[in-house]
Amino acid sequence: MKAIALISGGLDSILAARIIKEQGIEVLPLNFKIPFCPRKKAGSPDNGISSLVKRNLSEELKVVDISADFLGLLLEPKYGFGSNMNPCIDCKIFMLSKARELLQIMGAQFVVTGEVLGQRPMSQHRRALNLIEKESGLTGLLLRPLCAGLLPKTLPEKEGWVKRERLFKFSGRTRRPQMDLAQEFKMEHYPNAAGGCLLTDPGFSVRLKDLIKHQAFSLENIGLLKIGRHFRLAENAKLIVGRNEEENKELEAVSACGDYLFMPDEETAGPTCLGRGEFDDQLIKFSAQIVCHYCDLNGAVGAEIIYTHQGVSYSAQAAPIAENRLTSLRI
Ligand code: SF4
Repeated sequence: MKAIALISGGLDSILAARIIKEQGIEVLPLNFKIPFCPRKKAGSPDNGISSLVKRNLSEELKVVDISADFLGLLLEPKYGFGSNMNPCIDCKIFMLSKARELLQIMGAQFVVTGEVLGQRPMSQHRRALNLIEKESGLTGLLLRPLCAGLLPKTLPEKEGWVKRERLFKFSGRTRRPQMDLAQEFKMEHYPNAAGGCLLTDPGFSVRLKDLIKHQAFSLENIGLLKIGRHFRLAENAKLIVGRNEEENKELEAVSACGDYLFMPDEETAGPTCLGRGEFDDQLIKFSAQIVCHYCDLNGAVGAEIIYTHQGVSYSAQAAPIAENRLTSLRI
C-alpha cells in the first residue's frame, strides 16, 4: 500500500506522514509549490522542506509547482477569504484535487494530510473538512491521522490497511500533543508552527490587493512583494526600496528590462531601489527623493542619486521626501 502525504513544511504534515509510515504504509511525500511561501533561506531551494522530509521520513520529497494555476484562486475564490488574502478552503480543495489526479500516476491508494480538527477557524472545522473531502473528489480516500479518531472511518481504515486505534484524536489550537508526539518519534529540528503562508500575513495581503487593483498581478510581481518596502507612486508605477545589503543585491538581480534602478552615488551609503512601471520626469524626481530619505546623509541636505534605465545611467540631485508624504505612499 502507498499513500501520498501532502507536506506543507510544518510539523503537522510531517507527523501525519510519519504516523502512516509507522503502520508499514509506503508514504510518498508531496509538496505543492505556490508563490506565497516565505523567502527562501540562503542556500536552501525549498526552505529546508526536502531535508526535513529526508530526516524524518527517509524519503525523497516530490515538489510540484502549481503557482501559475493557483493565481486564479485569488481573484474569485468560491468559498471566500479568511481574515486576510487566504482562500484556505478553495486552496485545499485545489491541492487535494491535484493530489487525487496523482494517485494513479504515483501508484498510491489514498492521501494523507496533517489537518487537525478545529485548529484553524476557516478550513479545519468539521463542516469545512467534509466539504474539502467531497469537493476534491477524495471521499473516503483522505486520511487525517492527527484527528482521524474524531472523524468517520475512511476506506484505508475500513479495509484494514491502517489501524484506526493507532491514529489520533487531536483537536483545537494547542500544539502540545503534536510536540509530544514529535518527541516520541525522536524527531529533531522540526518546525514548531505550521508551514507559513504569506496569504495569511496582513501586510503582504495589502500589497497583494494593490497588485490586483492595479492590474499588475503576475508571478514576477508577486515575487517582488517579498522584498523591501513598497510605495505606490501612481496608477502604473511602483518603487521598492531595499532594506539591507541582501535585498539591495536581490533587487538589482531581479530588475527586468524597462525597470528603473535607483541608488545613491558612491559618496553616500543608501539603498538600492527598483522602479517598475511608467516613470515620467516628475516620478523620477519623486523616486530620487524617496531614495534620499533612506540614505545616510551625514548632516548633508541631500545626495546625488544615480538612476539607470535601459542600460543608461543618469544622475539627479535630491533632498529627502517629507515623512508624511512618504507614509501616504507606503503600501
Ligand atoms: S494558509 Fe495558505 S497554503 Fe494554507 S490553506 Fe490557506 S491559502 Fe492554502
